[in-house]
Amino acid sequence: ISSHVAILVILLSCISMCSLGKFTSPLPNDIVSLDLATRLRNDPHSINIASNDYGNLVHESPSAVLYPSSIDDIVNLIKFSNNCSTPFGISARGRGHSVRGQAMARSGVVVDMPSLSQNGIGVRVSWDPSLGYYADVGGEQMWIDVLRAGLEHGLAPVSWTDYLYLSVGGTLSNAGISGQSFLHGPQISNVLELDVITGKGDLVTCSQQMNSELFFAVLGGLGQFGIITRARIVLDKAPTRAKWVRLLYSDFSIFTRDQEHLISSTVDNPSPDYVEGSLITHQSPPNNWRSSFYTPSDRSKIASLLKSKKGLLYSIELVKYYDDQTADYIDQELEVLLKDLNFIPGFVFKKDVALIDFLGRVGRSAASDENNHLEAHPWLNLFVPKSRILDFNAGVFVDIIGRHNSTSGPILFYPLNRKKWDERMSAVTPDEDVFYTLGLLQSSGAEEPGEYDKLNNEIIEFCEKDGIKIKQYLPHYKSEEDWMEHYGPKWNTFLERKNKFDPRMILSPGQRIFTSAI
Ligand code: FAD
Repeated sequence: ISSHVAILVILLSCISMCSLGKFTSPLPNDIVSLDLATRLRNDPHSINIASNDYGNLVHESPSAVLYPSSIDDIVNLIKFSNNCSTPFGISARGRGHSVRGQAMARSGVVVDMPSLSQNGIGVRVSWDPSLGYYADVGGEQMWIDVLRAGLEHGLAPVSWTDYLYLSVGGTLSNAGISGQSFLHGPQISNVLELDVITGKGDLVTCSQQMNSELFFAVLGGLGQFGIITRARIVLDKAPTRAKWVRLLYSDFSIFTRDQEHLISSTVDNPSPDYVEGSLITHQSPPNNWRSSFYTPSDRSKIASLLKSKKGLLYSIELVKYYDDQTADYIDQELEVLLKDLNFIPGFVFKKDVALIDFLGRVGRSAASDENNHLEAHPWLNLFVPKSRILDFNAGVFVDIIGRHNSTSGPILFYPLNRKKWDERMSAVTPDEDVFYTLGLLQSSGAEEPGEYDKLNNEIIEFCEKDGIKIKQYLPHYKSEEDWMEHYGPKWNTFLERKNKFDPRMILSPGQRIFTSAI
């Protein structure tokens, strides 16, 4: 009798300590016996947050959310799932800025990564004779945190995303691209070492030299092989200011030729530090949430030009960084950069801003917070091989987007150098030296998100029919065949690595690669 009473007391104390209400299948009841049970919650608020993301298109409820107080909590949760006869899915949720439910785990457990910041490593800046300057960063940290911590030492990462309120683990699971990527590669090309909890629950340190297969698998690995708890990021001396220029074009060929010229630096052709092209249409006004750049008089000048050019213009945004040492030469350097370009005369607009204002141009409130989260974001991000961009322009920008007068939000289109990407990593790109990235960053607003989906599908179908071998960035597919097609020759390696590091297919089910969890 006394042993029964003891068991009852333990069970009751577990239930009262932990924040879990009634369980939902398939979480086994003995999960309450874990130390971490008090940090598992299934109250409506926790479930609601973990069932939503920036896309506001997919809504899938986990059985519980783990608010880890340490890395061990995540290790123990993953080990526990592995030991279940039917394991449950586990997704790390960085900032939930996915647009298609990629950080969700239907009926499984979502791990709220920001909770780690309470007892985590934060951002630690160091120097090593062989590595140079670097920062050890918790996987839950945001890029804005890395920027702020680096600047305290006069240092900064070299490769960025446009928007800095994304988690380091979340962007390294994709690639992390912006206008610096042509020069320094995506963010995944600027990582020296990682700590990763694999799908088996092993905490492993990996780099190009140590446990390299895991290192390459995880970078661009869509969360399939492990949860990144620390990333060692390359830092360099931070410039203090940026000369920021926008140039307008009406001819697509000249617009792309100039962008390709800018990203092909040689001794005679010094490169800018940042290049991003975009479209200006009646629906995507020149000033948008990405930054307010133009004055009201610039805007009316651009509006009349837009009218005379059938509602379609192209814009190159370029930046040259400088500091006190280079301040005397920066204008001259900028003139050298601009002199070979063929933008529309008179349509050059310049700004001179502090580095932090340039890197922080996509404001937090404007891009992400409450109001925006209420809207659906059926974004489409593609990589397009350079050899087909003229066809892409004719079929997509002029025809499809021209016909739909419902596009909203920025339309980015800028080139990247494939040699800056490491083929051994999981991320995939088109098979050409230069490829363009398209970011069709729509907000549904008053429109039905389905309308944008139709537009996105039309673009993808056009590329398929026309034989344009695009790759999706931040991919979203529905069938295994599509994923196999996406990975192409890398598929077998991807599969082998999955079997090695997450054999029970536990991690990031919201990506829908190995499970139909959503
Ligand atoms: P989440 O949405 O939380 O997670 C994304 C995926 O990564 C999920 O599968 C999740 O399980 C996995 N994951 C999360 N954390 C970890 C971890 N620590 N270890 C392993 N896996 C993990 N992308 C760019 O490249 N460039 C941009 O300029 C850019 N700008 C953006 C601007 C906005 C406003 C938004 C909404 C998105 C933007 N993105 C950009 C896309 C963004 O990089 C991805 O959506 C990224 O996944 C967001 O990070 P997150 O922390 O919100 O990830």
